Amino acid sequence: MYCRVRTFAIKGSTVTELGVEITISSRGIPRVEVTGVKGGECTKSIKKIRTAFNNSGLQFPNKKININILPAGLISDLTDIEFPASMGILFAHYGVAPGTSDLFYGSLNSGGFLVPATKTIFLDDVWASGRMGRLFISDGSLYFNENINGLKVYKLCSLSQAADFFVNGEVVSPAASQTLAYNYAWARSGAGDCFCGVLGNTQTKRALTISISGHHNILMLGPSGTGKSLLAEKSAAMFPDGTQKDAVEIIKAGILCGMPTENIVTTPFRRPHISVKEGDLIGSPRMPGEATLAHKGILFLDEMHLFPSKVLNSLKTVIDRKKVEFNCEGAPVSYPADFLLIGAANNCMCGLLGAEDRQCKCNGKDLNTYHTRMNPSFLERFDILTHVSGSPVEAVHSGGECSHKCHTAEQIKKAVSIQRSRLVPLGISYNSGIPHESINRICNLSKDGSSLLEMAVSKYGLSTRAVHRILTVSRTISDLEDTPEISAAHLAEAVQYRVKNDKP
Ligand SMILES: [Zn+2]
Ligand SMILES: [Zn+2]
Repeated sequence: MYCRVRTFAIKGSTVTELGVEITISSRGIPRVEVTGVKGGECTKSIKKIRTAFNNSGLQFPNKKININILPAGLISDLTDIEFPASMGILFAHYGVAPGTSDLFYGSLNSGGFLVPATKTIFLDDVWASGRMGRLFISDGSLYFNENINGLKVYKLCSLSQAADFFVNGEVVSPAASQTLAYNYAWARSGAGDCFCGVLGNTQTKRALTISISGHHNILMLGPSGTGKSLLAEKSAAMFPDGTQKDAVEIIKAGILCGMPTENIVTTPFRRPHISVKEGDLIGSPRMPGEATLAHKGILFLDEMHLFPSKVLNSLKTVIDRKKVEFNCEGAPVSYPADFLLIGAANNCMCGLLGAEDRQCKCNGKDLNTYHTRMNPSFLERFDILTHVSGSPVEAVHSGGECSHKCHTAEQIKKAVSIQRSRLVPLGISYNSGIPHESINRICNLSKDGSSLLEMAVSKYGLSTRAVHRILTVSRTISDLEDTPEISAAHLAEAVQYRVKNDKP
């Protein structure tokens, strides 16, 4: 007796179709053998399936059973496919065949009930590419976009329910199609979220507003105790609500990282400690790291000058590609990591360089250490550099309470919506992602702006990369004012964020 059942392996966010072949033979000593599984332990799953059959009032064949997984070596145990394996045994034993487009996924418990699966959220792309048929999963599994291509999703609670449907011909209706959006919502950002609560630092607040609006990586440099961390923390609350797609991506990233799923989505804010290991920051082939937990949110490197340069260097390609890529035993593994990078650093190792009230105590060696850690190729990844002075005089005169004149959150929201509608055809949401080939079309400079850019290029010896970044930042500045053309003033502001590295 033979039967083949279709199922999936879901590794990370990659979904691969699997075949479970069941062969039951009357000859030989009754036992269950598993082939096509790499090195793992299947005894537990087999025991569970056997008990589940008994507890469901189903007869487990007392014969020699072979469970073969195709393609071989793709999975290391049966945990995620106990349900399809059980169905295969059931079909082969009762001589019933599943439909050719029927798919099964999920694990079982010993009671014979199907265990709700979280990984089903990754089935999204599988059906987007034209797959059709019936899918049988546990009720309580995470939703995905189920109303694609006439897919019928059957949400079952137990093995006996599945047996009734396939063997005894009982009627089970497919569940109403759900979309991913069904039960996820953005947490409403608190009213009055803005930078006003932080005293002084008007320039840095302006720089952060631009950074958040266009997702431009920003580095705040300045002596310790000037409010850099506080401003970074406030930034997450200043993010406008993301799209439904963003919400789903945040949930998916969380599931990849083994986080519990929540129905309310908030903008991620991750602040890895300076002692973080490379493998915990960018992740490893087996487990994503902070970079993925910060997906669609903020990765904040506080005291950035204290991170070992090896750790910072590992982030460079992640920042450029917006994802983390590994090779795991010959198979590519990739995790999403599209975040806004906010860095905060002192101007020197002792943290007092640039302070108005105290003297820097660094010697030549300290300054050398500082410069090695803040390597230029890593600094290149920041579009905006801003010096935080923490001037006490300024602090007295500005900030504290949010006045009705404060439009920062509103401005950001507006600028983001302008970008979203403009960049939809390119598949991106923010100006920071504008590709090279579209830069001239999207960042249209005024006549004065063009001549100013030419001047800046020759005066500061700007690289092509620097010019590209300056143009995207100036685009965001003009979006904040809702003007279609980038003026000389917009460009000048973008240039000064890029070139004032030499201060203090
Ligand atoms: Zn110092
Ligand atoms: Zn305010």
